[in-house]
Amino acid sequence: MADSTAQPSRSRDLDKLLLRPGHLVGPNFEPGAELRDDIKTYAKVLVVGAGGLGCELLKDLALSGFCNLEVIDMDRIEVSNLNRQFLFRLEDVGKPKAEVAAKRVMERVCGVDIVPHFCRIEDKELDFYSDFSIIVLGLDSIEARSYINAVACSFLEYDSEDNPQEETFKPMVDGGTEGFKGHARVIVPGVTPCFECTIWLFPPQVKFPLCTLAETPRTAAHCIEYAHLIKWDEVHAGKTFDPDDPVHMQWVYSEAVKRAELFGIPGVTYSLTQGVVKNIIPAIASTNAIISAACTLEALKIASGCSKTLSNYLTYNGVEGLHTKVTEFVKDNDCLVCGPGVLIELDTSVPLRKFIDLLEDHPKLLLSKASVTHRGKNLYMQAPPVLAEMTRSNLDVALFDLMDKVPKDIVHVTGTAGKSGNKQSCLRKLRVAFKGINGVTEMGMAGGA
Ligand SMILES: [Zn+2]
Repeated sequence: MADSTAQPSRSRDLDKLLLRPGHLVGPNFEPGAELRDDIKTYAKVLVVGAGGLGCELLKDLALSGFCNLEVIDMDRIEVSNLNRQFLFRLEDVGKPKAEVAAKRVMERVCGVDIVPHFCRIEDKELDFYSDFSIIVLGLDSIEARSYINAVACSFLEYDSEDNPQEETFKPMVDGGTEGFKGHARVIVPGVTPCFECTIWLFPPQVKFPLCTLAETPRTAAHCIEYAHLIKWDEVHAGKTFDPDDPVHMQWVYSEAVKRAELFGIPGVTYSLTQGVVKNIIPAIASTNAIISAACTLEALKIASGCSKTLSNYLTYNGVEGLHTKVTEFVKDNDCLVCGPGVLIELDTSVPLRKFIDLLEDHPKLLLSKASVTHRGKNLYMQAPPVLAEMTRSNLDVALFDLMDKVPKDIVHVTGTAGKSGNKQSCLRKLRVAFKGINGVTEMGMAGGA
């Protein structure tokens, strides 16, 4: 369908990278037209998120020679997106972002195929993600990044000496922007730190001290947070504040206005109230463009080897002038997500139900509502109801039997983790070993390898 000679001007700049040798290239780089064609034919890239950054990424990847793209996003287009999410028009408001973004890029860049997925990232099976050569993230939430990171790390396998196996690497490129600041990073689970290894890079939001809010408010934001964090609980005992409920937001706004009048503080508006309560940071189109370009180049480097990839975290700051910096972070060898997996030793008689209970009490995991899969087979699924019904009878069967009596293997578990009030979907890779028959396995595995 795509004619590689139809648009010489489009591949001109790409050819300078792909057709010529160089001294900064990656170890397996073989320049030539075949390489360019291979990227078109074989490289399959998933873009996660079709918002400000996602729109840029799809366009950049399409223009960089990638022809097999898919995009996943659960949101619909809103009027407030239109200033920067440039693939969308006024008549698209209300339509799924992924679908419109895919259609627009395909209209403009011939030969590119983009498959949209209008759903939550958790709705896709692991198999869906395993299909891609590279996953590029254009997300604005830590939870979603963390989830995709765990998905990519779940494909990683270790040999019997705990060395990561290269053929199971699922590279990711993560972009993120916040106002005039942004980052681009390359994550190769098993090689570079994964998102979870460096989760401390995303510190919890700094809130105002409660005493300032209660006693000495000085800014409009202080008045809003007073209404949101203190006054709400005083008046609505036990009722959780919902930032997406306009009635709740309106209540906080009018309380903040009263508070501001009392202290003679100007500037409380409804939109500022939303901004403070939901912690909205204005999105800047140029930051998205710069970060997307950096991410796309990294994806191209991973796919082609035309240059060594970023090692491994680039930050961009355009607040005053322009500053970029690359930092090489290191892996956390005890990481729950990209490491070989938490080891759980069980008796062969332990039923699946008891295993699931054990995950909830496990101090490192604290994983509740667990669904369990082994080698792609659903052992127990909490949802949807059909699958729960189909797998319920397994709960009373010994896990050892459900795992076909293998002495030791990887099990994937999805569920929610975290403290109450801050539960997150998560995916964990566990190493389950059955007591008493370990020795036999390890000798068997060593012999087989
Ligand atoms: Zn990690």
